[in-house]
Amino acid sequence: MSSSTTLRSGTAPEGTRPVGLDGRFARELPELGIPWSAEVAPAPRLLGLNEPLASELGIDPTWLRSDEGIAMLAGSAAPDGATPVAQAYAGHQFGGFSPRLGDGRALLLGELTDVDGTLRDLHLKGSGPTPFARGGDGYAAVGPMLREYLVSEAMHALGVPTTRALAVVATGRPVRRETVLPGAVLARIASSHLRVGTFQYAATQDDRGLLERLTASAIARHAPEAATTERPAMALLDAVIEAQATTVAQWMSIGFVHGVMNTDNMTISGETIDYGPCAFLDTYDPAAVYSSIDHGGRYAYRNQPIVAEWNLARFAETLLPLIDENLERAIELATAALDRFSAHYAEAWLALMRAKLGLGEAVSDEITAALATDVLDLMQHERADYTSTFRELATLARGSARPAALEGAAGETWAEHWLALRPDAEAMDRVNPVYIPRNHLVEEALQAAADGDLAPFERLLEALAHPFGERPGLERYAVAAPDTFGPYTTYCGT
Ligand code: AMP
Ligand code: MG
Repeated sequence: MSSSTTLRSGTAPEGTRPVGLDGRFARELPELGIPWSAEVAPAPRLLGLNEPLASELGIDPTWLRSDEGIAMLAGSAAPDGATPVAQAYAGHQFGGFSPRLGDGRALLLGELTDVDGTLRDLHLKGSGPTPFARGGDGYAAVGPMLREYLVSEAMHALGVPTTRALAVVATGRPVRRETVLPGAVLARIASSHLRVGTFQYAATQDDRGLLERLTASAIARHAPEAATTERPAMALLDAVIEAQATTVAQWMSIGFVHGVMNTDNMTISGETIDYGPCAFLDTYDPAAVYSSIDHGGRYAYRNQPIVAEWNLARFAETLLPLIDENLERAIELATAALDRFSAHYAEAWLALMRAKLGLGEAVSDEITAALATDVLDLMQHERADYTSTFRELATLARGSARPAALEGAAGETWAEHWLALRPDAEAMDRVNPVYIPRNHLVEEALQAAADGDLAPFERLLEALAHPFGERPGLERYAVAAPDTFGPYTTYCGT
């Protein structure tokens, strides 16, 4: 921030805690973070702890369950050496540019090195108002934080790059929404919290040195091979385009709708971030929109690759001064990189659909693409459940009945063509999930949690942790929503 801004700064934490955090972002990019401290949670209570993730991070889960551990997870006590900051970023929200968004209710506690030697961010969401709160209260409610926990962990288990949930702590502080709700803090792990919006903010600061340091930091964390190329900024752009094309293709393949793909909610790492109004397709509908505020359907399921490319163009614009001294040349290079998005996306999508249909490399791309498009059309026409249909296709490959989506004459023809290619049912079962965070199950688990019963949340989390193999006792988690459920609406920034 500019040095003329005077703001309350964070208080130094006391005592030694067994989590060593670096303050690398705070140190290297001081213009992009305001040192700040979280509000102390009046009555912290651990609602969920991701023990496997804690172990991956080299943090003792037993310590995290202690009063000291919970205090850290709630933001009440930062670990030694930590310099918590509210990160600054800008963003295009539904197409309109906001030059100053930033962490209004979140803090980056710092970075830690996991057991594999990778640097990861430890971040808190719902930890109290910061100078970026813009009239918001700075808090989060238990429901939406448990929702992010469930969905992000499901995404991870499905193999989609994503931020992770380390813990959710109920703060004991009531939060005012349409009604008064219990407050919570989510402790989140990410390979970084650098966003397209972070670059947009830096680009508006008229400070080439800052942009260079930010770019170097993104390269170090997400595209180290770019550092030794002739044009590192260009190589970073290429790497981010490829990573995002792959991630969004994965969203499409599992029927995920992010819901609020603003540029501040798109990472440089390629990880899916900021689970707000997201949802999974029930019946297949390319126009599906769940968010209550997305009236124009900007972030509809089918628009996600288009929006990703649009967001990446905004990212590319911020890098132009570093791509080439000659603006025209820089634009030419950046445009060529953006033009490669569709090819990356199409390639990733086709590979995923090939796997979902159990087809080997011997089947041509043209035939694979045609079969994929046709089966999606049939699903749409029959209003068939997206996830179940793919799982049932493996059953059909094993000689059982055709799924509902293929009941008609067109479906019969499609099935004949497809079966003639000898799809591999075992391989299909390894990529077509049985358990996804179905909207009705998520709502049921969150409702129970709101009523004080965490058991449904825990059971659903356990089902989602291993999505590809049917397990006895989990039958109800594998079936589509009852007809009485829906239309489903989700809410942003809750
Ligand atoms: P989101 O769309 O949830 O990713 O948030 C967009 C922006 O609004 C970010 O700058 C958030 O920090 C901010 N924000 C969302 N909810 C709140 C809140 N309750 N208090 C303060 N800032 C918020
Ligand atoms: Mg956000």
